Amino acid sequence: MPAHPPSPPPFSAPYAPDDRAMATRLLAAVRPDAAQEARIDGTATRLIEAIRANDDPLGGVEDMLREFALSTREGLALMVLAEALLRVPDARTADQFIEDKLAQGDFIHHETRSSAFLVNASAWALGMSARVIQPGETPQGTIGRLTKRLGAPAVRAATRQAMRLMGNHFVLGETIEAALSRAQPDSSRHQRYSFDMLGEGARTADDAARYFNAYSSAIEAIGRTAGDRPLPDRPGISVKLSALHPRFEAVSRARVMGELVPRLIDLARQAKSHDLNFTVDAEEADRLELSLDVIAAALGDASLAGWDGFGLAIQAYQKRASDVIDYVDRLAHSLDRKMMVRLVKGAYWDTEIKRAQERGIDGYPVFTRKAMTDLNYVACARQLLALRPRIFPQFATHNALTVASILELATDQGGFEFQRLHGMGEALYAKLVEDRPDIAHRTYAPVGSHRDLLAYLVRRLLENGANSSFVALAADEAVPVSQLLRRPADIIGSADKAAHPNIPLPRDLYGASRKNSRGIEFGERAALEQLVSAVAAEPTPAAGSITDATESQANAAIAAARDGFTHWARASAETRAAALEKAADLLERRTAHFIALLQREGGKTLDDSISEVREAVDFCRYYAAQGRKLFGEGKAMPGPTGESNVLRLRGRGVFVAISPWNFPLAIFLGQVAAALMAGNAVVAKPAEQTPLIAAEAIELLHEAGVPASALHLVAGDGRIGGVLVAHPDIAGVVFTGSTEVARTINRALAAKDGPIVPLIAETGGINAMIVDATALPEQVADDVVTSAFRSAGQRCSALRLLFLQDDVADRMIEMIAGAARELVIGDPADPATHIGPVIDAEARQRLDAHVERMKKEARVHFAGSAPQGNYVAPHIFELSDAGRLTEEVFGPVLHMVRYRADRFDQVLQAVERSGYGLTLGIHSRIDDTVEDAIERLQVGNIYVNRNMIGAVVGVQPFGGHGLSGTGPKAGGPHYLARFATEQTVTVNTAAAGGNAALLSGGE
Ligand SMILES: Cc1cc2nc3c(=O)[nH]c(=O)nc-3n(C[C@H](O)[C@H](O)[C@H](O)COP(=O)(O)OP(=O)(O)OC[C@H]3O[C@@H](n4cnc5c(N)ncnc54)[C@H](O)[C@@H]3O)c2cc1C
Repeated sequence: MPAHPPSPPPFSAPYAPDDRAMATRLLAAVRPDAAQEARIDGTATRLIEAIRANDDPLGGVEDMLREFALSTREGLALMVLAEALLRVPDARTADQFIEDKLAQGDFIHHETRSSAFLVNASAWALGMSARVIQPGETPQGTIGRLTKRLGAPAVRAATRQAMRLMGNHFVLGETIEAALSRAQPDSSRHQRYSFDMLGEGARTADDAARYFNAYSSAIEAIGRTAGDRPLPDRPGISVKLSALHPRFEAVSRARVMGELVPRLIDLARQAKSHDLNFTVDAEEADRLELSLDVIAAALGDASLAGWDGFGLAIQAYQKRASDVIDYVDRLAHSLDRKMMVRLVKGAYWDTEIKRAQERGIDGYPVFTRKAMTDLNYVACARQLLALRPRIFPQFATHNALTVASILELATDQGGFEFQRLHGMGEALYAKLVEDRPDIAHRTYAPVGSHRDLLAYLVRRLLENGANSSFVALAADEAVPVSQLLRRPADIIGSADKAAHPNIPLPRDLYGASRKNSRGIEFGERAALEQLVSAVAAEPTPAAGSITDATESQANAAIAAARDGFTHWARASAETRAAALEKAADLLERRTAHFIALLQREGGKTLDDSISEVREAVDFCRYYAAQGRKLFGEGKAMPGPTGESNVLRLRGRGVFVAISPWNFPLAIFLGQVAAALMAGNAVVAKPAEQTPLIAAEAIELLHEAGVPASALHLVAGDGRIGGVLVAHPDIAGVVFTGSTEVARTINRALAAKDGPIVPLIAETGGINAMIVDATALPEQVADDVVTSAFRSAGQRCSALRLLFLQDDVADRMIEMIAGAARELVIGDPADPATHIGPVIDAEARQRLDAHVERMKKEARVHFAGSAPQGNYVAPHIFELSDAGRLTEEVFGPVLHMVRYRADRFDQVLQAVERSGYGLTLGIHSRIDDTVEDAIERLQVGNIYVNRNMIGAVVGVQPFGGHGLSGTGPKAGGPHYLARFATEQTVTVNTAAAGGNAALLSGGE
């Protein structure tokens, strides 16, 4: 038996390397010679002409794009309509939704230019609908009139029909049997299929089981009709790992390896028994390493030996693509297997850019210029072609230039195929088959219900409708063919142009005035492991090493701070800002240490701890940047000649900062940094549960240049806070905590003689989320679970009360509860933990008592289980009426209420009646509904179609109204001024001998 190399170590490559370095390498690659370039031009031109000449009676994406360019309102409205309409069960919401979208476009004046049936079908339905609804009519009025005339059902039916037609075009069949029979007549030696079972990723164990069964029965059905040609001339199936496991994420690696690998092996074995092509689709960049671990573990299973059909997709927009190819080749070599590799450009580009920005990593895992993706695609193609026959390359693209370039690289050896998506690229591949009957291509054919299809369809339309996309440009006759033939290397030109000039690096998101805080990507194993071991190695002081201050120490701190104030207030704004920035840098350098503290003292999970350190860093940098603007030179005011008038802000004196335990670093530092930046001295009293973190934060600020005399720590409980607040010499209080304590402070301040000082209070809320029938259940499940249960529900912003439209409530609740069941509750130091402990035994007892009461009074939808210790398991209770929740329950307990679509107003009333106004979530695709809620509700932070926690400094300034706080918002542009007092200085510039400036002004 020949010796094979050992299995390669797990895949590892720099996550987000520098664009310039990558471009230098890619641009140095040997270019085709003149004759080859001419042939590429010739082939690509023929293909493009074929695409443009196509007027297929059934149309395709190209026709859709030609007709409703995405940049038009009609295009966008159509897409949003398509995405949600088929999942809306109730007529009322469907009609409201249709009307909302139709109002956004000008369908009635939209002349159809194309004869394509598909486009006509949708334009007809929409045009007809638009004619029924006249511009300027109110939604209520129109709906009323339509219903009277029986117009609404007609509109609804027509629009749904048009959407179905589109669905029919892009999905091969609603069941695998239907898809197979539709595919059969086209299957030939050079026209192959790979079937894909549509759907969003699994959120629950039931979802994962359902997808597994769907894949499994599809494999059987495909196998039965696969014929007897050998691979690669056989059909295949594409599977998504995220469909097979509800927590397919890097931090859940151990679980994923234990639970998902056996499932994948089972499916692969089945595929092997029919000798099919079995491809693992490529998903988001942070899942790449995990995917490769899963693939390597499955592929290594001895039962798969001797089968050449296993494959995976690799994305060329990822900078690691070439490393992945090397890895896959080593893997195949070590196992003595052949593998099939689909090379795609990648479908999640916008998501990748956003995620990298949100996580504050140093670079992007994907390219930021399309030509770099194209250049890398061809380089990867060359690499794959050279690995034949161990690797069977499958080039998935609808780009004629890419196809032509590959044909030139591949020469005539064969051993590869092209791939296209069903419903797309038809003209291109028809022409290719005509020109080169020897070249095979495979159609990736989605199978599933129209409801599942539409999310997929919108993705495809968005992706291909973007004006950088080849399909969109090819569809646009105004774009000359020569432009489509421009080579990626020429478009880039030189390596220093490799990065997009308008897409700043994640750390540069906020421009020159401040850096975005540094985060890490958990999907990069090396970074995660390094952090986890650094945190584990960090020594932290023992609990109890900070002693509570006595009353006289508290008073002494205020006296000392008063002395410190005179000095600090005179320091320039620049000096104060520089100290805060230094503090931010020190914090970033000591991230591991502060994470260790947050985990040990605050019970925070790794993800929460990193977010918190980042928030603290952002506060320091943001207030420094704001402070430079506000506290710098002062503002010259207009006035009569002969005098100067300047308005400036200055510190008030000694500020008392009282902060909570739930953000012991970020809120603590945020308050202190703002007060200091405004020129105040500060006496800070942290929560009694978290003095260690506070003490270290204070030390860090001292080290960064804040004089010890200007910043004092006073540890202790509420009693000592009371002493500070009652002190006659304080100039203001900044407080975050309960409404009740805020009131006590307010009363104490009011009771004092002497100057009236400001109180900046941020308190709690009974935060609501409203979900209607147009919302996507998977997205709702993600956002509800994150908003209600992350940080064990101990965020002021957390979701407490969920309003679900009753038409979809059961399905939504099932998914939310199923997703909650997958959360891991336990030791916060373990990166796999989603929910850590609550802060102390007292909190746990209070929450346990609430849960017990709810179990009697409400319907239980979910009751998790918690380990021993201060843990509270997530719970979901259904209340008969929103009014039954009268207080903020500060833990992982979600309450839900159903509402009728025609009683939406009562939902808004219920939110209003609570008197709180901190955060609000809305999940709806109906703009009118969203606007109604925004207009009506006095809530500080509103989040639409996303989760409702994790406000980012300077992006979502945080704080509420009513019982939720006084404002101004922390991390916002109006915050610092509240810590300051104003002064104007007027100088009579003419006092010494007259107004020289006026006199010398001339005629
Ligand atoms: C058969 C088949 C299977 C597929 N399977 C997968 C899969 O498993 N996983 C997956 O992710 N995708 C998959 N795709 C989708 C595929 O990634 C897209 O269809 C592809 O992006 C379109 O490429 P193109 O060559 O046809 O189009 P082109 O228009 O030439 O290229 C579009 C590509 O450029 C990228 N791009 C756009 N702007 C920029 C920019 N500023 N900087 C960098 N890149 C940019 C886009 O993200 C996209 O990847 C598959 C496609 C096909 C045809």
